Amino acid sequence: MGPPGAGKGTQAKRLVDRFGLAHLATGDILRSEVREGTDLGKQAKSFMDKGDLVPDDLINSMMTTHIEKSLERGFLLDGYPRTLAQAGVVDGFLSEKGVELEAVFNIQVSDDSLVDRIVNRISCGKCGAVYNLKTSPPEKEGVCDRCGADGLKGRADDNEDTVRNRLKVYRESTEPVISHYREAGKLQEVDGDRSIDDVQAEIVQQLS
Ligand code: AMP
Repeated sequence: MGPPGAGKGTQAKRLVDRFGLAHLATGDILRSEVREGTDLGKQAKSFMDKGDLVPDDLINSMMTTHIEKSLERGFLLDGYPRTLAQAGVVDGFLSEKGVELEAVFNIQVSDDSLVDRIVNRISCGKCGAVYNLKTSPPEKEGVCDRCGADGLKGRADDNEDTVRNRLKVYRESTEPVISHYREAGKLQEVDGDRSIDDVQAEIVQQLS
């Protein structure tokens, strides 16, 4: 959990590499549906462009399908659940499967750093690697260090108006989910206003 720009995706990519988990990132899955022009992608695009949440029923069926395929391997949810209704569905689905979430991490970052991070963010359309033009640029301009693809660019929804709306949606719809997992005794707070390595080290330490 964490607002847009908190570093969820960056931390998640490192964690899944470290622990051999499936990375179930709702935003990445949706962006790939949009790129491929699927029915789901077509339905989701207008919500994403405005920074609004895609309706729960679409997200829940998409995510439970992905989780089902990753039950054996283990998985990390990145950007899901984002509403209380989604949390109810995923909790029910996992308990039906006899699986429990081990921990929920909430990465906290000040609003000033969030906006700065988001406007300087570029990512790879092929593998999803994320860079920051100021703090962690790619070695060669425009080229992905991770997979070599050319054409790193900013996300369509990383402009100022959309970001402001995404932060508002986060406060209204997603913060209650944090309280839900706090009450369930699963929540671990992480200070995200530090280097990528320091944040990662803290998450790994809390997990172990
Ligand atoms: P993200 O990459 O996590 O910032 O997500 C980008 C966009 O995808 C969001 O602004 C939403 O429009 C949509 N999205 C991602 N995750 C969810 C979710 N769990 N529920 C609804 N919409 C989502």
